[in-house]
Amino acid sequence: MSTRPLLAITAALLFPVAAQAATPQSAIDAVIDRNWSDLDALYVDLHSHPELGFQEERTAALLAERMRKLGFVVTEHVGKTGIVAVYRNGTGPVVLVRTELDALPMEEKTGLSYASRVQASGEDGRPTFVAHSCGHDNHMAAWIGTAEALLALKDRWHGTLVFVGQPAEELVSGGKAMLDDGLFTRFPRPDYGFAAHVGPGLAGTVTVKQGPMTSAVDTILITFKGVGAHGSMPDKGIDPIVEGAHFVTDVQSVIAREKDPFKFGVVTVGSFHAGSVSNIIPDHADLQLTLRSYDPDVRRVINAGVERTARAEADMARAPAPDIRHTFTASPVINDPALASRTATLLKAALGDARVQFVPENAPGWTASEDYSEFVNAGMVHSVYFAIGGYTKDTLDRYAAQGKPVPVNHSPLFAPDHTSAIRTGIEVLTLAVLGVAGDG
Ligand SMILES: [Zn+2]
Ligand SMILES: [Zn+2]
Repeated sequence: MSTRPLLAITAALLFPVAAQAATPQSAIDAVIDRNWSDLDALYVDLHSHPELGFQEERTAALLAERMRKLGFVVTEHVGKTGIVAVYRNGTGPVVLVRTELDALPMEEKTGLSYASRVQASGEDGRPTFVAHSCGHDNHMAAWIGTAEALLALKDRWHGTLVFVGQPAEELVSGGKAMLDDGLFTRFPRPDYGFAAHVGPGLAGTVTVKQGPMTSAVDTILITFKGVGAHGSMPDKGIDPIVEGAHFVTDVQSVIAREKDPFKFGVVTVGSFHAGSVSNIIPDHADLQLTLRSYDPDVRRVINAGVERTARAEADMARAPAPDIRHTFTASPVINDPALASRTATLLKAALGDARVQFVPENAPGWTASEDYSEFVNAGMVHSVYFAIGGYTKDTLDRYAAQGKPVPVNHSPLFAPDHTSAIRTGIEVLTLAVLGVAGDG
């Protein structure tokens, strides 16, 4: 046993007001206040310098340098552009805290003064705008802030922190790349893991869900093949744009007519590229789809339905069979039910009931997906993935009054209240780590 309780009693006698203020919550808030202008500047810097998956060189270097200054032992280029920062603080559990590093290939239209105008080379080699329209810039600032808070409070916990900066979450492949590069063998293997994602909920709140939190994702690339011809002579060719156009609408029948209507399942064609000018019938059309589901039977039905519909469209157009390639997949993120329940209780005690929503196992989670599931499925079973609210009540009320949904993640207008999102992220992640590694 240490002498900490005795010291605490002595301190309480000598400095009653200070001791009273030093709950974990108030101590965390004090650290955030002290570091806020720096965290805010970091967020603005990251927001205006976004990088695509596996291209996050500047982002990773920036975070690595900060973690080194805090005293972490940092390894860069784990899984191409990933970083692992380890801090040992005596005997105790190994706790992983994860942020994503990457942004999206899209043009930001938020109108923020520090909005991104960055362009980079996309997956297909073509130039694209790049934007932090999923909020990963908020997560990175909260990740640094959590490391700062835990170090400032290091007399309150024991164990090893493994702070992971994961690349290419949007490509659903950075998690696997880090595992393949020895994340759980070259570095301490985590007993617990935490991550948090900002979304369109009420700012200042956190949702803690038991069981499935995010959906399964399957990414499918389909190339419809045609026969190129002059635009004025369609009978001399086979038009892959017409094939693809039929497919885009027909494939929704898989959802409407084949899937169990009581179960969640989505098919979205997010990209359709074909042709170059008005008077040429091209010889191929490239489509990219994302499929989302929770139930394994639904997943099987919609994957099979998408492939069958694609083949049938080609057949109907007397075209060669399409190329169908499965690229990225990920399983649902499953939150450990006991840890989720325990963590929700301690968050309510620290933040107040109004800021914490607890969602039981059988209730629906998010429709979005996450390759954080790779870490959970690789053996880090005691894990919770939190949802952090991003919009102030004023913003939510304004959109509600107009009868419009608020811009969600991946919208070019997605602009969560970063002050609240980062602060809440730091509070939640720090309290969660103290909950499993704390002395009290
Ligand atoms: Zn995203
Ligand atoms: Zn995201």
